[in-house]
Amino acid sequence: MKIEKIDIYTLNVSIKIPINTPLGAIDKAENVAIKITTDNDIIGWGEASPCAMITGDTQESNYAIAQTMARLIMGKNALAIDSRMNEINSLTVGDSSVRSAFDMALYDIAAKAANMPLYQFLGGERRQLRTDITIGIKNTVEETVAQAQDMLDAGFDAIKLKVGRSGLQDVAHVKAVRELVGADVALKIDSNQGWDYPTAVANIKAMKDLNLEYSEQPLAVWDYDGLARLRNQVDLPICADESVFDHRDALKLIKAGAADYLNIKLGKSGGIHTGLKINAIAESARMKCMIGCFGESRLALSAAVHLAMAKPNIYFIDLDSCYHFETDPVIGGMRYDDNIGGLINISDDIGHGAMFKENELENRITIEM
Ligand SMILES: [Mg+2]
Repeated sequence: MKIEKIDIYTLNVSIKIPINTPLGAIDKAENVAIKITTDNDIIGWGEASPCAMITGDTQESNYAIAQTMARLIMGKNALAIDSRMNEINSLTVGDSSVRSAFDMALYDIAAKAANMPLYQFLGGERRQLRTDITIGIKNTVEETVAQAQDMLDAGFDAIKLKVGRSGLQDVAHVKAVRELVGADVALKIDSNQGWDYPTAVANIKAMKDLNLEYSEQPLAVWDYDGLARLRNQVDLPICADESVFDHRDALKLIKAGAADYLNIKLGKSGGIHTGLKINAIAESARMKCMIGCFGESRLALSAAVHLAMAKPNIYFIDLDSCYHFETDPVIGGMRYDDNIGGLINISDDIGHGAMFKENELENRITIEM
């Protein structure tokens, strides 16, 4: 089954409630869409949601290098995912976001060719997945609590709070949310590298009675020593996010004793192909994974949902990126349940089940055999 045509597009979506982090704000989705067509007319869809402050790539860089990637795999076997992804991953160490778009389009094709939903193609079976919802850094405790109340009203049972303010300012926000939501809602914190070592120790110790689930990326991306020291200083599990892009990072973090959990994001790993390797390495160390996101629509989230469904070791689900999208450019794929906050529904459509409304996409460029 040969790759016959690849269409590359841009996709822009506004986000109603921006998420502020110590690295900057996620206030709009500036994404790239990939449509791969094979010589027997199977179509696979992928999406990149570059986040320069973390992944180092942008819509512009993804759109440009996607054309080189498309030429690289043109005319080759779409089902040989290992070879195709090794070619794409060898082209650049960067642009992981758009590498993931090609990857999920190839998995979409392979699962469709096997006439299976992607989670079945990956060896999985149905299980319930329920995402948390993220609240960004707000100026006042009142603003944080107000959004937490909205999420409680929407029925969520897990909230992730962005932290990483200076000193001990975060404590009042997290404490107020715990008091609001009661004991039954899971709470986790994500510093996005915003703390230094002493600030992390002081904050996590000050939050010790708030029954948090874990602290995500408390320290700088490169600070494996600090993460390992922190794990020995505090009782809270540490989840690595920006510190783990691929399977090699996973191995290094585990060897350094620098994390309790690993956050897989397709946009960091360059897709499912490497995401599976991260999960396998984590599982070998009896370590659970989380699956996260940047500013993806329901299309890339569908690929992530199928991966998580297939791999129960991917335990923590943080797939809320399009919950506050102004518009929905996707047909099919994952949906948030209308009644149970955060519950994710998928059909048994083959592949990852999602495609874009092409009239919502822009700047199409076509590479053909
Ligand atoms: Mg994170």
